[in-house]
Amino acid sequence: MSTNYEETIRDYICSRCMDFGEDGLCHSKDPEGCAIYRFLPQMIDIATRIQDLKIMPYAEAVREEICSYCRNRHPDGKCSVRESLSCALDRYLPLVVEALEYARNSNGKRKGVI
Ligand code: SF4
Ligand code: SF4
Repeated sequence: MSTNYEETIRDYICSRCMDFGEDGLCHSKDPEGCAIYRFLPQMIDIATRIQDLKIMPYAEAVREEICSYCRNRHPDGKCSVRESLSCALDRYLPLVVEALEYARNSNGKRKGVI
């Protein structure tokens, strides 16, 4: 996986994430760790494949291709982490899609994102 994607997520999402502490560390309340990083390859694939102006197709793909494999998901399909707004991927999905599109279009060159 290109570090360009990881660095862009850090610049674009972590910098404005409610779980990013003043100590410069992540204090995610997700017991499995931040889902954006846990599922970054899958999310890159979804963002590359879908390319839609609406967020719903991305949200549906996340449910099917990511949540189905996430250990936080209950057998009935519910997710208490999502319901408590503790899943960063769910919380920032539009920004994640935007950041991944930026990273893809920057062709590996690092520029200021914001
Ligand atoms: S929860 Fe995810 S997006 Fe938020 S600061 Fe931690 S690593 Fe970054
Ligand atoms: S919404 Fe829940 S099941 Fe889906 S990625 Fe986030 S924590 Fe995992």
